[in-house]
Amino acid sequence: MDRKVEKSEDEWKKELTPEQYKVLRKKGTEPAFTGELLHNKVKGMYVCAGCGAELFDSDTKYDSGSGWPSFWQPAEKENIEEKTDNSLFMRRTEVLCKKCGGHLGHVFEDGPQPTGQRFCINSLSLGFKKKDEKQEQP
Ligand code: FE
Repeated sequence: MDRKVEKSEDEWKKELTPEQYKVLRKKGTEPAFTGELLHNKVKGMYVCAGCGAELFDSDTKYDSGSGWPSFWQPAEKENIEEKTDNSLFMRRTEVLCKKCGGHLGHVFEDGPQPTGQRFCINSLSLGFKKKDEKQEQP
């Protein structure tokens, strides 16, 4: 897989917090209901905490009750990679940042319409960019 952002393990360790590193680079999962962005309702863009790629628009965020930030659609399909994950004796679909290969979470088919998808994403994998009202067209 061709990554636009490639870094050594040492570089990632230096740039990320230990908690972010564990999730993004080691496919860990943050404990449910601990994510800083879980209850964020501000309008804006959720970006990859590893490389800044735009991943999810606040307009697609909803409260799934799972304890992790949930979205029903990625902002840009090309910024996301989906991969079959058979770990922990389950068959799940892992969601990664296509640009840096960072682990984001999983996608399930029990989300709301119009997509029916639930992107269950670690808050630790995300950064948040508030919408800049000044950039809006008049
Ligand atoms: Fe990334």
